[in-house]
Amino acid sequence: MTNAKISPFVAIARSIGAEVAGVHATAVDRDARFPSESIKALKEHRMLSAYVPKSLGGGGATLGELVLACEALSQHCTSTAMIFAMHQIQVISILRHASDSPWFLEYIRDLVANQNLIASVTSEVGVGGEMRSSVCGLQWEGQSFKLIKHATTISYGAQADDLLVTSRCTPDGPASDQVLSLVRKADYTLEQQGVWDTMGMRGTCSPPFKLTATGKKDQVISTPFAAIASETMVPVSHLLWAGCWLGIAGAAVNKARAFVRMQGRARPGSIPPTALRLAEVASELHMLRASVDSVLREYEYLIAAEGGSADELSSMPYALKINNLKVAGSRKLPEIVSQALLICGIMGYKNDSKFSMSRHLRDAHSGALMVGNDRILATNSSMLLVLKDE
Ligand SMILES: Cc1cc2nc3c(=O)[nH]c(=O)nc-3n(C[C@H](O)[C@H](O)[C@H](O)COP(=O)(O)OP(=O)(O)OC[C@H]3O[C@@H](n4cnc5c(N)ncnc54)[C@H](O)[C@@H]3O)c2cc1C
Repeated sequence: MTNAKISPFVAIARSIGAEVAGVHATAVDRDARFPSESIKALKEHRMLSAYVPKSLGGGGATLGELVLACEALSQHCTSTAMIFAMHQIQVISILRHASDSPWFLEYIRDLVANQNLIASVTSEVGVGGEMRSSVCGLQWEGQSFKLIKHATTISYGAQADDLLVTSRCTPDGPASDQVLSLVRKADYTLEQQGVWDTMGMRGTCSPPFKLTATGKKDQVISTPFAAIASETMVPVSHLLWAGCWLGIAGAAVNKARAFVRMQGRARPGSIPPTALRLAEVASELHMLRASVDSVLREYEYLIAAEGGSADELSSMPYALKINNLKVAGSRKLPEIVSQALLICGIMGYKNDSKFSMSRHLRDAHSGALMVGNDRILATNSSMLLVLKDE
């Protein structure tokens, strides 16, 4: 790609990745601390409102540009990229399902002006990663609600400005009768219930919290969460997460390539034996990128379709496709990083080497857990039982 063709959003992400996120990535990982420098830089470049339409003061980026931005950031610091991705998922969900609400329109204008960072509160004690089921419910008093949620994991909960939270419509309603509400920092408290000392994704700072929030009816998105999840939150999550995973895989393969070149330079005129393994892992990365591209293109086509595409996006074949991207991509990622590690050998195994794979491999293993793959496969298996052959 020539420079002239690079999207401005991707160019900003590349430069923040290389000049800010990458500089602090080792400390962020070592200390399990929030990547404050890179999030500050993203705010300064107005990247938190990148997807907001220009008519509302945002950047007007496409989803494809955000996927590439996630990849560019993740090459240097996957925690930064994942925070950026999770925030964008919340913004896109609001824009696609609440932009006819005056309260949410005003909120979006505020987000554009102040670059508010939104965190996601879907996981809950008692249901784990089952996003489509809630234990907690909105307790109504007239037009106002109170909500108490025991969240298993809230990434950057302590650093976020606002939270987008799933719950039942009412405490006594069915677990699957869910809504999505935006609660603002002045109206909630978070009591940390544990620590975030994990194998990878350490900079996402995602401990469990008890959330106590209040709000007004206007802050509850009127579209049922079931529709928001199938039409937007799940496909957009899987695509932006996949962008982050491509960044990890690309960084690992780039290190392997540099290592093989170094070997080649040491013995001019001969091809190092590791070059074969490099060709193999590069083809795996190519396949991963191709599958992300194809799902992205179809999603962008469907959301741009005249008259909407809610039926198609909520259909079983589409759910299978978007779930398969997540399961296959998150399985492939640690394989690619492990192959790159084998190419670099001990230089990849050492933490103090420029070829170190440690952080990439540890971060890579989070993909399968961010909504457990077996949970997703269990959903897929039920759908496959009733779906006609392709
Ligand atoms: C880096 C990171 C950041 C995160 N950030 C957030 C965040 O900001 N907000 C948020 O809400 N959540 C967040 N999460 C939580 C995440 O999305 C999942 O909800 C959580 O990881 C699931 O927790 P669990 O594995 O304990 O629970 P479970 O989903 O209950 O899974 C436990 C085990 O049971 C298996 N299992 C569960 N159901 C089935 C089934 N039906 N069939 C077969 N096996 C099954 C799973 O595969 C897994 O092995 C984050 C997770 C990670 C790793």
